[in-house]
Amino acid sequence: MKDKNFLDSSVRFKFVKDKELILLVRPVILSLFYGCVVPIVEQNIYNYKITVTRTVAEKENDSISNSHAEGRAIDIRIKDMPKNAPTQIVCSLNEILSKEFGAISHKSKKPVFAVLEKDHIHLQTRFGVYYNILIMFACAKTYMQLNKGAYSEE
Ligand SMILES: [Zn+2]
Repeated sequence: MKDKNFLDSSVRFKFVKDKELILLVRPVILSLFYGCVVPIVEQNIYNYKITVTRTVAEKENDSISNSHAEGRAIDIRIKDMPKNAPTQIVCSLNEILSKEFGAISHKSKKPVFAVLEKDHIHLQTRFGVYYNILIMFACAKTYMQLNKGAYSEE
């Protein structure tokens, strides 16, 4: 069987091990990833398949955050995205998801869900947010955002 589970079909993985590891991230980030991040990326970039570059991973010496080690984060590739797409995607995601789900930023001390790094977008959730109805609202907000044009224009 080519696709081990349905979650594989909408994304690519840089490392084979992350196909399994993505199922070990916390339900909050997993749900938001498939329910909000993938649709927003697909809406921003025509005919594009998102690539996951990191899921659960050991903490690196130089990194401040434990988010990957704790299963609260997923990274996605940006080098194959059109020039302005990463900034737009980060903006859209943060507008919908930062307040309720974002991890607290070391710099601003405010909750931030998507961080634009040099070669990837880091998606992160904070502790204390559990898989619940908030995620359904977030997905609904995402779909409303994606369909904004369809409803507001004559
Ligand atoms: Zn990361």
